[in-house]
Amino acid sequence: ANERYASIREKPAVTKDGARIKLLMNAGLMADLPSLETSGAEGVGLFRTELQFLTQNKMPKRSDLVAQYKKVLDSSKGKRIVFRTLDIGSDKVLPYMTPTDEPNPALGWRAIRVGLDKPGVMRMQLQALIRAAEGRPLTIKFPFIAQADEFRMARAEIDKTLERERILGHTLPERLEVGAMLETPSMAFSPQKFFDDVDFLSIGGNDLKQFFFAADRENERVRNRYDTLNVSFLSFIERIVERCEISSTPLSFCGEDAGRPIEAVCFAAMGLRTLSMRPASIGPVKSLLMRVNLDDLRAIISSARHRGVQSVRPAIMDYLREV
Ligand code: PEP
Ligand code: MG
Repeated sequence: ANERYASIREKPAVTKDGARIKLLMNAGLMADLPSLETSGAEGVGLFRTELQFLTQNKMPKRSDLVAQYKKVLDSSKGKRIVFRTLDIGSDKVLPYMTPTDEPNPALGWRAIRVGLDKPGVMRMQLQALIRAAEGRPLTIKFPFIAQADEFRMARAEIDKTLERERILGHTLPERLEVGAMLETPSMAFSPQKFFDDVDFLSIGGNDLKQFFFAADRENERVRNRYDTLNVSFLSFIERIVERCEISSTPLSFCGEDAGRPIEAVCFAAMGLRTLSMRPASIGPVKSLLMRVNLDDLRAIISSARHRGVQSVRPAIMDYLREV
């Protein structure tokens, strides 16, 4: 797939009407890192840190994490890597750490909830990230923030860790950005101060869509029942974009839908300017972005809303067949 899109690999994704869309890749393994070059990704928008915890049946050592994160940063050649702190629970079971008997794990004790209730592991991870950075810029985001206080508490953990590391004589990152995943509908309605307080936000589309439609992302029976191009969902995304614009908060979309070309161009039409996806999707998404006009897409979406249709997909498909 990379070969097919080789001619546009070094080109920026710019739409016909001049919107520049930044395309990033998702990663979670050292083996993913070479794709930073071969895919044309401008950075890693989501580095999932669960795998280092899932490959053993015991807690990894801090020194192992430092070594792994350092390798990731070393191979990034200065491109920005957004590390997400441990997002366990729900679909990512960690038997030595989280209960396996919850009636509804997607709504259960997971991600930042575990991180805040049992801060030892998160602190170890934050220390490891700071040490691995060795003074280089560092970007961290917290998963599954469902109310603003959770972000404030998580950020306070970073501040405490920085202070401890400073006292221990470690070099602190020259710049540290701290953001949150927006993957529960509650956060779209949080006070504007939340949007001011985060350095950036990433929509976790897989979870956000599951909670928006109350449809389990793991359940084959229901997971494709609701179209991402449903007008309500697109309006919801647009609302999040507007709230970020008010606070000048950088916003990205990560999650499987960002890697689907038709979905991706619609997100761009809703105002998203950064999309993070699996590396193999970057070529196809860029290729389609370069052929569309966002104004046309917005007109189609707006007309679909007025007509009261459920999904804009058929109308968008008609347009795409022409371009
Ligand atoms: C998401 O929810 O969209 C996301 C990117 O995180 P994960 O798939 O790891 O839950
Ligand atoms: Mg998620």
